[in-house]
Formats: sequence, C-alpha cells, structure tokens
Amino acid sequence: MTTTISTPAADAAPTPPPVILPEHSGYDEARRAWNLAADQRPAAIVQARSADDVVGAVTLAAEHGLQVAAQSTGHLAAALPDLDRTVLVRTMIAGVEVDPVARRARVGAGAIWQDVIDAVTPHGLAALSGSTHDVGVMGYVLGGGLSWLARSEGLAANHVHAIEVVTADGRLVRCDAEHEPDLFWALRGGAGNFGVVTAIEIELLAIREVIAGMTVWPAAQAREVLEAWTAWCRTAPESATTAFRLLRLPPLPEIPEPLRDTPIVVVDGAVRAGVHEHADGVLAAFRGIGTPIMDTWGPMSPAGLVQIHMDPPEPVPGIGDGILLEDLDEAALDAFLAAGEPEVVRPLLLAELRQLGGAVARVPAHAGARGALEGSFLLFAVGMPMAPADGEAIHHRVQELLGAMRPWATGTVYLNFAERGGSAESAFPAATYERLRDVRGAWDPGERFVGSHRITPR
Ligand SMILES: Cc1cc2nc3c(=O)[nH]c(=O)nc-3n(C[C@H](O)[C@H](O)[C@H](O)COP(=O)(O)OP(=O)(O)OC[C@H]3O[C@@H](n4cnc5c(N)ncnc54)[C@H](O)[C@@H]3O)c2cc1C
Repeated sequence: MTTTISTPAADAAPTPPPVILPEHSGYDEARRAWNLAADQRPAAIVQARSADDVVGAVTLAAEHGLQVAAQSTGHLAAALPDLDRTVLVRTMIAGVEVDPVARRARVGAGAIWQDVIDAVTPHGLAALSGSTHDVGVMGYVLGGGLSWLARSEGLAANHVHAIEVVTADGRLVRCDAEHEPDLFWALRGGAGNFGVVTAIEIELLAIREVIAGMTVWPAAQAREVLEAWTAWCRTAPESATTAFRLLRLPPLPEIPEPLRDTPIVVVDGAVRAGVHEHADGVLAAFRGIGTPIMDTWGPMSPAGLVQIHMDPPEPVPGIGDGILLEDLDEAALDAFLAAGEPEVVRPLLLAELRQLGGAVARVPAHAGARGALEGSFLLFAVGMPMAPADGEAIHHRVQELLGAMRPWATGTVYLNFAERGGSAESAFPAATYERLRDVRGAWDPGERFVGSHRITPR
C-alpha cells in the first residue's frame, strides 16, 4: 500500500521535522538498520534530532492515520512488524550529561553505549552496558539490559531515575517514581509500546576496575567445558557474570589467527573486583579445564567490557532468536551439544548460554515491568546470512536448536534477545502483562506506537 504524506502548513505547531519518503533518494540509507538482514520499508522516516522533532513526527503520523515506531540503532529491527503504515522515527538525539556527584547521566535517545562510556569513565564511573559498544542505550535499557555486572547489580532497566517520552497525544512527558509512575513502570520493560523516548536518566556505579576476559578451548573440549561451567554456575558468587559459547568466527583478517574460522568454545565475562572474592578463586573451577587455546582474564577498566565478547564492530546481517532456560541437566547438555553439531554450530555463527541468577532473578523495590529474568540461562543462537539463500538454513537451524532445548525452557522470553517479534505476552508473568495492558490502554489505547513486541491495550 502506498501512503501519501503531505507536510502540514508552515504555521502549524509544532514545526514538522523533515520527512523522508520512499520516493526520496535518501530513503534506502535512512531505512537501513544495524541488522542488515532487516529489510524495513516504513511509510515514512523522520530522523529526529530533538524532542521537538519527535513531537512533530508523532503529530504528523496522527494527522495521517499512521503508526509510529521508535528506533535508535536497529539492533532489534528484525522483530518489528511490517511498517508500511508506520512512520519510523530514528532517534538521533545526541548528548550524554554526567552528574558525578549524584552518579547519574542524562542520555539522549541517539546515544550508543560507547557514548556513555566515553562520558562516564573519566569520572571513575561505570554504566550497566551490554556486551557491545554500539547497541543503543534506549532499546537496551527499555527492554531490560543484561550486562556483565548483571548478577551483582540486576537489570539496567532498574537503574533508571527518569524517562522523557513523547506520548500518543503528542506531549513530551517526564516520568519518574513520583510523576506518572505507571508510565515510568511500563516503559522499563514495555519499551516502544508507550511512546518515543527522547532522553533517559540512568544511575551510574562507582567502579574503576573489574576482572574480565575469556578462556578459549578447541571445540573438541565442548562437553568437558560445558559440564564444568554449568556445575560452577550453580554455586557461583553473584560478583561473577559469564557466558558459554559455541562459536565459529568468520574468516576475517581482524580476527586473531588461532580463532579465525575454526570451531571454538569460549567462556567469557566479568567479576566485580574486590566486592566478594578474589577473581582467580572465583574462576578457577572452569579455567583449569583441558588445554585452552587462549586465556585473557585480568584486571581492566569497566570501559573495556564492551569489547570482551568479540561482538561485530559494525552493522552485519543477523538471523537469531533466544529463550530462557532452567538449570541444565545431563540430558540438556546432550541436547545442546547435539543440536550444535557437526562442526559446532554451522551454519550459525554462535550458540550462546548467558548465566542468569543472582540479582537478575530478584525483583528489586521500585522495579519497572522488567524487574527480573526467570531461569538459570539465556539461550541465544544467531547466524550471519552472507547471501539471501543462507537465510532459510539459518532460520531453520536457530529454531531447531531452540526446539531441542524447549524441555528446559522457562516458558518466558527476554525480549531483547527475542528477534522474531510478535506479542510481548510470553515475556512477562501474567499479572505483569495485564498491568502493562492497562497502562497501554491509558496512554496509547489506539495503538499509535509499534514496539518490537506488541502489548495489546485494554
Ligand atoms: C551484537 C549484539 C549484542 C547484544 N548484547 C546485549 C547484551 O549484552 N545485553 C542485552 O541485554 N542485550 C543485548 N543485545 C540486545 C539488545 O539489547 C537489543 O537488540 C536492543 O533492543 C537494542 O536496542 P537498540 O536501541 O540498539 O535497538 P533498536 O532496534 O533501535 O530498538 C529496539 C526496540 O527498542 C525500542 N526503542 C528503541 N529506541 C526507543 C525510543 N527512543 N523510544 C521508545 N522505544 C525505543 C523499540 O521498541 C525498538 O523496536 C545485543 C544485541 C546485539 C545485536
């Protein structure tokens, strides 16, 4: 369907931002998401550089009977539905202001984690970023935010002081624990279903050093390492947050030779240094296994935590999906490894288990809708389609692996790693989802907004 958008009269308020339509020469570049496999084709695109631009975009969409989808980087673009009746608002609102005394940062909706790290590190502060530098702060935090400090600090969504958001009626609303507390609660987990966030105030941590790194083994030692790591996870201190991966890195020159295009097993992560135990003692249980190819664990600035996971440094095509798992028994390890063979994960890039539990499993006081994550592990599998024909095989393999692990699934998902989109219902306990529906009914009953996962208003 073709949608025609006309620009409102010049004296209309607010001033409309520039709109990029399919027939404009810049459309293809503007619609490109970080995930290059997401072929999103919105009815129109607004590159919002201010809150006023967002107000203008929401107003314009309402005038034309269109929906609005907020997107910062497009890491989760594959989860969005068809956008042919939607204005895609790419948030490019710059700025990270740090208050070192209050240990807070006000982050514009265009910021990626590297922007925050660059701003807070000189103050001896750290933020609860994820495993990679160029994920957008907005989608990550509003979806939950699982960092390398998660088991000691909890999810990033529960370290938010205030949120500024443009709602369906075109108003810029600032919400926090005292002002519009229901909206503040719902945004922290319900993400793009309630409006376009223009800025967020996050809490920072006074951490100057962590122990972090990775140990790498040949894939032949996968069973031995997985057994030792899952056993260690059962009693691991909350100061440690780690991940296990079956991995086959692409044959690219920037990847160190021993790791390039060869099946490997990796355990990586971080220990919050000096909090509970000495990291060597914490990690000894699995670092001593077999004969590692590489072991890089050591002290580092928390600023380095966005590098240890070797995530792609720039946009790539990805087809992936994830589920939450309970503790893994022998049969589960068999299923996981069998589904990963032969040649480890081919045609996938990786199959990953992130360690949950600790503070991730507890709903803190004043939590948002995404207070905690159920289960012991997050399973995520992804492949990089280098040609259109690869897509089907990768999709099939991802679902095959997830299917093999369903007997150990919690039944809930973590939306930031649920790349197939659809309803958000399976992500929350029933009472939480019902409350999210009520808040959506109050703030966006007509579904002006399109999130990566839908919360149906009541
Ligand atoms: C390589 C890689 C590494 C990752 N590592 C981690 C990790 O360590 N921990 C973790 O928890 N997750 C991780 N993720 C998942 C990541 O957190 C999600 O993909 C997240 O949604 C990305 O946010 P974004 O803003 O960059 O993406 P986008 O695709 O731009 O946004 C995702 C969704 O967030 C919402 N949203 C974004 N901006 C706004 C806004 N301004 N207002 C309202 N809603 C908005 C929308 O619903 C949007 O569809 C990783 C993903 C990748 C691809």
